[in-house]
Amino acid sequence: MIDPHRLSTQLIRHLYRHSTRDLAVHCVHTGLIAAYLWFELPLSIWGAWLAIALLAGFWHWYRSTQALRHIPDDTIKGDTIVPDIVAAGIAGLSLGVSALLFPLLSLDTRLFVFMMLSAVAAAAMPRLSTLPSVYAAFLFGILLPLIGILIVMDNEPGLSSIPAILILGGSLFYSAYRLHSDLMDGLLSRFGLENEAGQDKLTGLANRRRFDFVLQQEWAHALRYRTPISLIIMDIDFFKKYNDHYGHQEGDDCLEQVAGALAESVKRAIDLVARYGGEEFVVLLSKTARDDAYAIGERMRQAVEDLEIAHEQSTLGHVTISLGGFTTFAREDMKAEDLVKLADKALYRSKESGRNRVTWYDPKLDDPETAEL
Ligand code: GH3
Ligand code: MG
Ligand code: MG
Repeated sequence: MIDPHRLSTQLIRHLYRHSTRDLAVHCVHTGLIAAYLWFELPLSIWGAWLAIALLAGFWHWYRSTQALRHIPDDTIKGDTIVPDIVAAGIAGLSLGVSALLFPLLSLDTRLFVFMMLSAVAAAAMPRLSTLPSVYAAFLFGILLPLIGILIVMDNEPGLSSIPAILILGGSLFYSAYRLHSDLMDGLLSRFGLENEAGQDKLTGLANRRRFDFVLQQEWAHALRYRTPISLIIMDIDFFKKYNDHYGHQEGDDCLEQVAGALAESVKRAIDLVARYGGEEFVVLLSKTARDDAYAIGERMRQAVEDLEIAHEQSTLGHVTISLGGFTTFAREDMKAEDLVKLADKALYRSKESGRNRVTWYDPKLDDPETAEL
C-alpha cells in the first residue's frame, strides 16, 4: 500500500517545511562568526563576507518557500531533486566561505570558525538527513572551502588536519545515512501497522478507514493520468429481518459468507473490496470503464445468490444483495467522496425497483434537476 515515490514527496516537504526557522538559525550562526571576525578583519572584508553569508541565507529561504509551493502532490522522481541538492550545496557554501578568511585570522579565531562550521554541519543533520544526497551537498559546501584554503595556505598544522576533516565529514554523512534509514524503517513499519488496522475483524476485508485512504490515493492517481474509475456500493437485502429471524450470530456468519463471495469475484490485486459499514460493502475499481465494472457487479450479485443462504423473511427466498455503480473519468470539479454518493443513488434505485440487481448511476434518473441544467 505504501508508495515510495509518495513517501519521497513527503520527505521533500519536510525538508522545506521549517525554512523560516532555518533562516533564523542561519542568521544566529552567521552573527556569532561575524562577532568573532569583527575584531580581526578590515571593515570592508568583514562587510563583504557578512553580506555574502546573509544574502545566501535569504536566497535559500526564498527558494525553499517557492519550492514548497511547487512540490507535486503525487509522485516525484529521483532526478527532480537535483535543484534541491544544488540549493543545499549553496547554503553550505554560504557558511563555508568564512574559512577562506583563514589567512587573515589568528589561530584562535581559525579554531573558533572551524568549531562553528563543524557544529553547523552536525546541527543540520537531523533535518537534512531526510534526503542523504541533500545533506551530502550541504556538508560538501561547508567543508570544501575549508579543505581548499588549508591546501592553499600549505602550512602545519593545517595540512595534517585535512585527513581529520575528511574523516569528520565521512562520519557525519554516515550518521546522516543511518538516521535516514532508521526513519524509513520507522515509517514503513508504521504503514505496515496501519495495514493491519485497516482490516475489518469480522469479514477480513479492508475496513472503512482503509477504503477512505485508498479512495483518495486512487482518485488522485485517476486525476493525474485521466483514467476511468468505477465504484460499486452494495447492501444486503432485508438484512434486518434476517437478524431478527435467525439471530445476530447467524447474521454475522451470513456477513462473512457474503464477504467471501465478493472478494472472490474480483481478479486484479488493485481492486479493493471493503466493508463500508454494517451490511454494506464497496468495491473500488481503478482504470475500469463502465461495462467492465458492470460485469463485475453482476458477477458479485450472482456469487451471493449462488451461496443459496436461506432467508425465509425475504421476498426473494434467500440472501441477496442490491448494487449501485458509478463510473467517471476523474475531473477537478469532483471529489473522491462523490463516487460513493452517486453510486449510492444508483443503489437506492436498485432497492426501489425490486432488489437483487445492479443499477448504474444515470444523471437523468438520479439527479433530474441538475441533469436538466
Ligand atoms: P434493505 O433491503 O432495504 O437494505 O433492508 P435492510 O433490512 O437490509 O436494511 P437496514 O439498513 O434497515 O438494516 C440493516 C441491518 O443490518 C441492521 C442490523 O440489524 C444489521 N447489521 C448491521 N451490521 C451488522 C453486523 O455487524 N452483524 C449483524 N449480525 N447484523 C448487522
Ligand atoms: Mg443498509
Ligand atoms: Mg440492507
